[in-house]
Amino acid sequence: MKRRLPPGVSAKQFQAAVRRLQDVVGSGWVLTDDLDIGTYLDAYTPFRGDEADEYVPSGAVAPTEARQVQQIVTIANEYKIPLWPISTGRNLGYGGSAPRMSGTMVLDLKRMDRVLEVDEARAYALVEPGVSYFDFYRYLRDHKLKVWLDCPDPGWGSLIGNAMDHGVGHTAFRDHFGAICGMEVVLPNGELMRTGSGALPGSKAWNTFEYGYGPHVAPMFGQGNFGIVTKAGFYLLPEPEAARSDHISVPRHEDVHQFLDIMSTLVADFTIDTSWSLTSPLLTSQDPEIKAAVMRSGGEPSAELDRLGREKGLGYWGTRVYFNGAPEVIDAKWEYVKRRVSAIPGAKFRAGNYFHFPKDYDNVKEGMDGDHFAKEAVDIPSLSIFTGTGASRSHGHIFFSPIIAMSGEELLRARKVFKKAYKDLGIEHYNQVGGWAWFRCNLILLYVQAITDDAEHNAKIRKNVKHLVKVAADNGWGEYRTAPVFMDDVMAAYSFNNHALLRYHETIKDALDPNGILAPGRSGIWPKHLRGRTMP
Ligand code: ADP
Repeated sequence: MKRRLPPGVSAKQFQAAVRRLQDVVGSGWVLTDDLDIGTYLDAYTPFRGDEADEYVPSGAVAPTEARQVQQIVTIANEYKIPLWPISTGRNLGYGGSAPRMSGTMVLDLKRMDRVLEVDEARAYALVEPGVSYFDFYRYLRDHKLKVWLDCPDPGWGSLIGNAMDHGVGHTAFRDHFGAICGMEVVLPNGELMRTGSGALPGSKAWNTFEYGYGPHVAPMFGQGNFGIVTKAGFYLLPEPEAARSDHISVPRHEDVHQFLDIMSTLVADFTIDTSWSLTSPLLTSQDPEIKAAVMRSGGEPSAELDRLGREKGLGYWGTRVYFNGAPEVIDAKWEYVKRRVSAIPGAKFRAGNYFHFPKDYDNVKEGMDGDHFAKEAVDIPSLSIFTGTGASRSHGHIFFSPIIAMSGEELLRARKVFKKAYKDLGIEHYNQVGGWAWFRCNLILLYVQAITDDAEHNAKIRKNVKHLVKVAADNGWGEYRTAPVFMDDVMAAYSFNNHALLRYHETIKDALDPNGILAPGRSGIWPKHLRGRTMP
């Protein structure tokens, strides 16, 4: 894999820039060998087998402090070298550490790995971008701090990197970007800024009162290309006394309407303040008789499935609900959930066993069987998702992940629309049953497509996802997150009033970053000189 130079930059100019960057970070930390470049590609690249089109950086530079980041940005402006900041670059399925545009230099922040503060009583932490979930977990345990972090599955990556791409987890702070309170940012002109209360010298409220005063700008840095985050505060969860995973099912296909309406209100009033997913115990059953009936029905409701569900005691829809907190609070919440869902005739409930903390940390098993839940849900980062799943056996996958309102009508409409779209595209396997409830009263549908060694197949799945993005947009659905190859398509769908939102982003981009050096193309936001071109 040969590195690519930034567009419009000669080899000589690039070498001169590299020497200047070496003066800042040391010669060992500007990485331009082909071998080094290989580590900054997307491990799940949807261009596998088609190297001509793959997004390949010109190199990487790895600073240790914000001052160095400022100096790097100044040099990048001088030589017009685009930079793609990553924290630890583990964003698999959404681009890994590779930039959107070949020739962009990766700004690798993983050497900035200090936990700067953990305040146990006020339950927040201030960290640098290179602090991984594993680092932070060890820090909390080593210092015997009784707070939980919220980690994603897999539990790798970093607090800041995952949040910057709107990653998700399990607890009340599962919206990782939403859990940020206070940022330090290097702007595209090299200036250092702090958001919210951090702008007030001497303030102790930087990581507890995010607004400070005036317009709140921190959200603009999520999925954006307006700044490089060098520190961020995160809300933490005080270590709960206990956790429990309970199960609910409702019998009939048409119950989905009432069930999702009830679950929405339980989320909206914070009775349920953890992530959950709607599944179908019936459609996902491994019972051979049911599997055959599902095949016969094409995954659609049928009298035969209704009968089998009744006979075998499997609900058409179901979920597990994960609670954490004091046992008496969990018990009370569960009673309330049962009372509400009992409005649906035939609803069934099963309470799981309690895990008490810190006593039971070692008793939580990997996986989500029976009473267990993902280790990540109880603060323990884990890589178990890579074992036994498709991800470990293929070359990875790409996600198409539209977000829909949490209602039965929307869910059934989405199933119909995407089933037809899959059929039109000649994809046999329609792999979506329910949806993931990470963001308040919404469901995220995750359609996964495996990457293979066959360039033609990979080109086809890229085309397929682009088509699915359009189909979704035609129906009022957008994606919450996407890999660089689809960023233009996803942003194009958010088109209200002749793309007023994208034009707003572009206005800000031009004002803050006139040389267009920061992450060109991130979220479909291009600098002026590259705008309007069809970028590969
Ligand atoms: P993780 O550390 O969890 O593996 P990544 O480093 O892959 O996450 O980051 C995901 C994406 O978020 C990157 O591709 C980049 O666009 C953005 N990003 C990550 N860290 C920063 C940062 N410190 N400042 C600005 N954007 C960032």
